[in-house]
Amino acid sequence: MASISRRAALIGGGSGVVLATAAALTWDKTSRLWWRLPGVDKQRKKGEVDQPGVTWIAASEANLRFADRPDDYVIDRVVIHVTESDFRTAVKVFRDPLHASAAHYIVRASDGRTVQMVRELDVAYHAGNRGFNERSIGIEHEGFVDRPQNFTEEMYRSSARLAARICERYRIPVDREHIVGHNEVPGADHTDPGRHWDWKRYMSYVRQARDEASRSSGGSGDSGKA
Ligand SMILES: [Zn+2]
Repeated sequence: MASISRRAALIGGGSGVVLATAAALTWDKTSRLWWRLPGVDKQRKKGEVDQPGVTWIAASEANLRFADRPDDYVIDRVVIHVTESDFRTAVKVFRDPLHASAAHYIVRASDGRTVQMVRELDVAYHAGNRGFNERSIGIEHEGFVDRPQNFTEEMYRSSARLAARICERYRIPVDREHIVGHNEVPGADHTDPGRHWDWKRYMSYVRQARDEASRSSGGSGDSGKA
């Protein structure tokens, strides 16, 4: 959505656009097109992350597809997962080229520490559904669906701050239509995050984090948009 509105803004300014600007736009369009060629990926800085405070550990490139989101695909969903393993194992399998899946982030149970393994502009194979992979960002949580003790306050808080920032970055509404469980992805045969995942608590933390961020960034302070 961000890319459409940006283009609309560029085109919308048409009446006042002089020839020089039109030429610059054409050049910009051409220079961008080559990124779209298959097998050509956008230049990026090694170790760069999308979320403040997270640690970068690269997933295997076999478990993702380089892309240029949100320009080539709109990002409008966050998918919540549970790893069904410990943190270290989850990191290890996402680095394994034979694993065939990876998520953008993994949040640790004990302290909420978060690693980013796939850049948000890239498509991670996490949802088991191509269209959903292309439109979403996946957050894994260390733990097992049948062990409620894994879902700690620190994990919920840390993940909620991350989800709130993702929603802010891509103008995604903070609601259960846009923040979904892996089990809610069409065609998914996975059950995570499972019945012990406390959606009510999580969503209230995400809204809280969103409102705090908008207050501290000098926003309107309007918290009535829950
Ligand atoms: Zn999952």
